[in-house]
Amino acid sequence: MTGGSLAVIGLGPGPADWLTPEASRLLGEATDLIGYEPYLARVADRPGLMRHASDNRVELDRARHALALAASGRHVAVVSGGDPGVFAMAAAVFEAIEAGAPDWRGLDIRVAPGVSAMQAAAARLGAPLGHDFCVMSLSDNLKPWAIIEKRLRAVANGDFVLALYNPASKARPTQLADAFALLRDLKNSDTPVAFARAVGRPDERIVITTLEQADASLADMSTLVLIGSSETRLVSRPDGSAWLLTPRHYGVPR
Ligand code: SAH
Repeated sequence: MTGGSLAVIGLGPGPADWLTPEASRLLGEATDLIGYEPYLARVADRPGLMRHASDNRVELDRARHALALAASGRHVAVVSGGDPGVFAMAAAVFEAIEAGAPDWRGLDIRVAPGVSAMQAAAARLGAPLGHDFCVMSLSDNLKPWAIIEKRLRAVANGDFVLALYNPASKARPTQLADAFALLRDLKNSDTPVAFARAVGRPDERIVITTLEQADASLADMSTLVLIGSSETRLVSRPDGSAWLLTPRHYGVPR
């Protein structure tokens, strides 16, 4: 062994308050920082820290690069927003290990969890994930759209709350509207829907609406969309706003 290491680190949704002490410590120990440029920008510069920025579409190359650096004796930090195991770099690193040089399997590798966008969004909204829920990425970059439709139907049939990551991007402008249309056929029109944008950042915006009214154009690449189950409801506040609640018991009359 060469003494190098690789840490796959979750930076949380944005604010420093939502960065774990473990993630901070590992960032402080790194000699090399690898990741998508906007995530690297969240890590403070210091002497001796080498930055290797890349764009978002080359995750496997980035993982191989990180592993090769760690094998050469560097202390490498691969960073992801949120949690690195949720639609992020941890899977790319292990895919690269699975297909890569045999000595990579013996490296000192750890994954440091982070607060994922769904947890941050849920915390802002109240308690929408208080009972069973599913998590999907709406992006069809890495899977066929037919599978997404099949899973959306299964979510509706199972009456799960749904947290939708990657609801929209410039290259995929209509998919969220298509998903809402599919779900409107299977769920009540008054099902609560929340758009939680840039949670924890200065441009945060939270909108609570219904499945019937939900306007897909409210979502962008920084938005997490939450769609309720038949049990999800609003708990209103004196100022006219509301929390979202999915109670822990299912099927108990209100
Ligand atoms: N690993 C990340 C998710 C990466 S996929 C995590 O655990 O959060 C990128 C998607 O995450 C975005 O399209 C958006 O749906 C969601 N997201 C990331 N940060 C967010 C934030 N601060 N507020 C709302 N959604 C966010």
